[in-house]
Amino acid sequence: MTTVTTTPTERAYEPVIGLEIHVQLRTQTKMFCGCALSFGDEPNTHTCPVCLGHPGTLPVPNAEAIHFALMIGLALECELAPRSIFHRKNYFYPDLPKGYQISQFDVPLSRSGRLGDVRVHRVHLEEDAAKLVHAGASGRIHGAEASVVDFNRGGTPLVEIVTEPDLSSPEQAGEWLRLLRATLKRLGVSDVNMDEGSLRCDANVSIRPAGTATLGTKTELKNMNSFRFLERGIAAEVTRQEQILRGGGEVEQETLHFDPQTGALSSLRSKEESHDYRYFPEPDLVPLAPTQAMLDRARAALPELPAARAERLERELGLPTDTARLLAFRSELGDFYESALGADGATDPATLASWVTVELVARLGDVDPVESPVSPEALAELVRLVSARSVSGSAAKEVLDAMAAGGGRPEAIVAERGLGLAGAGELEAIVDRAIEANPDAVEKVRAGTGKAMGAIVGAIMRETKGRADGGEVQRMVRERLGLG
Ligand code: ADP
Ligand code: MG
Ligand code: ZN
Repeated sequence: MTTVTTTPTERAYEPVIGLEIHVQLRTQTKMFCGCALSFGDEPNTHTCPVCLGHPGTLPVPNAEAIHFALMIGLALECELAPRSIFHRKNYFYPDLPKGYQISQFDVPLSRSGRLGDVRVHRVHLEEDAAKLVHAGASGRIHGAEASVVDFNRGGTPLVEIVTEPDLSSPEQAGEWLRLLRATLKRLGVSDVNMDEGSLRCDANVSIRPAGTATLGTKTELKNMNSFRFLERGIAAEVTRQEQILRGGGEVEQETLHFDPQTGALSSLRSKEESHDYRYFPEPDLVPLAPTQAMLDRARAALPELPAARAERLERELGLPTDTARLLAFRSELGDFYESALGADGATDPATLASWVTVELVARLGDVDPVESPVSPEALAELVRLVSARSVSGSAAKEVLDAMAAGGGRPEAIVAERGLGLAGAGELEAIVDRAIEANPDAVEKVRAGTGKAMGAIVGAIMRETKGRADGGEVQRMVRERLGLG
């Protein structure tokens, strides 16, 4: 028996990834005061003594934020704590006027959940810090580059979601974050806009020899503010760690910044430990003990969630997995699809799904399907015309172009533009001309070279501008050549 030994340089490693996600809740007011939430308003116009941390003020928890947080806990199949505790997380920074953030620590609102293949470690409620803006050279004060603070964001309700380290590739992390985003969007609890910071993600990354179970030392990539940066940042960090281990070194636990422009990873700080924050229970707040009525209301507010919807579309309508997921993860698209399907019971679900996810999506760009001039009923009608062989597939795409540009009903556009399927009468002469113009191809078809048919059919399609049915055209050509 031979033994195979591997040296560190040739060993295969596998990534281990856990995500920490901050979600700004879309409540009317802030977490502990009555200030309105705002995005992009004039700086420092939504503040009060509570969210500015003036002495003697008291926090009052926001019932709507708690309702949203309970919905998230339930949607992620978590166990909800009967009594969770608010803590003070102490640190000094200009974006934190009280000198501490009210968060949750050892007893969070909920824990031990799951979304898709990934276990959710915990979900807790906290408040956001204010926004520190580095004004750079344009904002000099006494000759020094200034940073300014906008307190509008300070005190915005946040839910933090922490996963178990169950992800094993950058792509899987990206896909899972998309599922989470779709789920939160469907819940209606947040704008989940990564550009605007209402959804923010930190990625914890380590590697270990493939097939082993012990976790390696992790690093934390801060604020990956798009799906693409998240995937690229994790990939870059995995490569960096592999190089360190292959070189015989050790990964250091630290917090890193990924620069999407240069692809470089730089150290922000060595990792802080929880004892650095001097957590202690917030003395101004009682424990959060949801009543049965609050739990019932949160449960009743749950819509069908994307993971369940994808499964239903696949199981009940027989859609391919990718198509079902695309429709379910982009809820507006799924809604469009299901209302188109409802508009015409005769349409084949898979055909309609492909028109929505391929053709319509290509013409929508960033436009929400609800705002598109193409109505679900009109698209269903178009697909029915194709299925009934009233228009060819390529003519139907032209009809869809017209509908996407200016609305209208398919039948009217077909009539107006003469896009109806060419009838046998019209085709006969065209078939004759194509046969005459392609003697070489005709010879090959007669000799049994099936591929040569393409040249003849192509000529007919060109002449009818795609208004002919390919199968029908082939049949006519063969009949004309006495091969039918
Ligand atoms: P910390 O105390 O540093 O905050 P936690 O145990 O709270 O660490 O985990 C924070 C996040 O890091 C979680 O998402 C968790 O899944 C992830 N994580 C923990 N250990 C590892 C590891 N070795 N590799 C990758 N991710 C990890
Ligand atoms: Mg942590
Ligand atoms: Zn306030």
